[in-house]
Amino acid sequence: MKFFELDSGGRMPALGLGTWKADPGVVGETITEAVRIGYRHFDCAPLYGNEVEIGEALETAVKDGITARDDIWVTSKLWNDNHLPEHVMPALEKTLADLRLDYLDLYLIHWPIAHRHGVAFPESPKDFVAPEDAPLAATWAAMEEAVDRGLCRYIGVSNFSVPKIRALLETARIRPAADQVESHPFLAQNGLAAFCRENGIVYTAYSPMGSRDRPDWLKHEDEPVPLQDPTILAIAEKNGITAGQVLLAWALQRDTCAIPKSSNPDRLRENFAAARITLDPADMETLNGLDRHYRLVDGSFFCPPGSPYTLQSLWDE
Ligand code: NDP
Repeated sequence: MKFFELDSGGRMPALGLGTWKADPGVVGETITEAVRIGYRHFDCAPLYGNEVEIGEALETAVKDGITARDDIWVTSKLWNDNHLPEHVMPALEKTLADLRLDYLDLYLIHWPIAHRHGVAFPESPKDFVAPEDAPLAATWAAMEEAVDRGLCRYIGVSNFSVPKIRALLETARIRPAADQVESHPFLAQNGLAAFCRENGIVYTAYSPMGSRDRPDWLKHEDEPVPLQDPTILAIAEKNGITAGQVLLAWALQRDTCAIPKSSNPDRLRENFAAARITLDPADMETLNGLDRHYRLVDGSFFCPPGSPYTLQSLWDE
């Protein structure tokens, strides 16, 4: 397995396991199986509603000696209703208690969007807090304090554009270790990936398989389906691998981290094996040519009429 080496010794496995939509009642067994297969990087979030069961499974895996706490990398995220500095530490402490951990390896600002405290998902414009009333720099300062207190080793961001990271760097005492963003051949985000590389920030690809199990209200009829794309299927056939493995090999080979979600033991194994696959330069070029800057998770749910956020202000494009 390839690792991203971070300042002060952290090693982030380049292939991790996503847990959004990994249902309670199933996710514990999935985590147990994943640890047995060799996964050592787990991507979590309180929004996914399954941190308690993940915590139980990880704790059992460590107790049973299948892995050690120091050998696993656990990421979680600060949800949008906890951006005000006074809410950051309690939110992190709740996540740590749920995951049964003393510290996280990485804690991310989930979205550059603020909700009123207690609003899990906004239903009206009143449920948002305007960016000027919940400055990201202040949220970041509270995250830095969490590092100082030893509650997380690294802090980072998610769904942040280059301008938003640049703005953060102006006041940050601790630099973001990662930016977790949607990424697959139809949304390669080459500019952001290069910026992250130059600044020692791990670009982490979410929805690398095209996220087909996300809710219907988040889907578009004409959206690309990476796992069924004829070009990707042809590369899979040529190499004797699966379409999923093509997608993951592409992500890892362009020096990004990827966190595919699966709740199926065979696909968990298949995805993990992708870390050992190398595509030839011609295949990489063909895959690079599929980019059409298509967002599957486009954030429009944060930008209804009357919201202080727009798609333009969210993505800075
Ligand atoms: P993925 O792109 O990982 O796709 C998951 C879907 O692909 C599931 O339906 C899964 O089915 C299927 N699948 C997985 N592997 C294979 C395979 N080899 N062949 C065929 N189908 C496969 O979607 P996600 O949106 O879940 O993204 C991954 C993770 O990224 C999330 O789980 C979450 O941790 C993170 N994320 C973060 C976001 C953020 O805002 N920071 C936003 C979105 C995701 P099955 O389970 O049945 O195998």
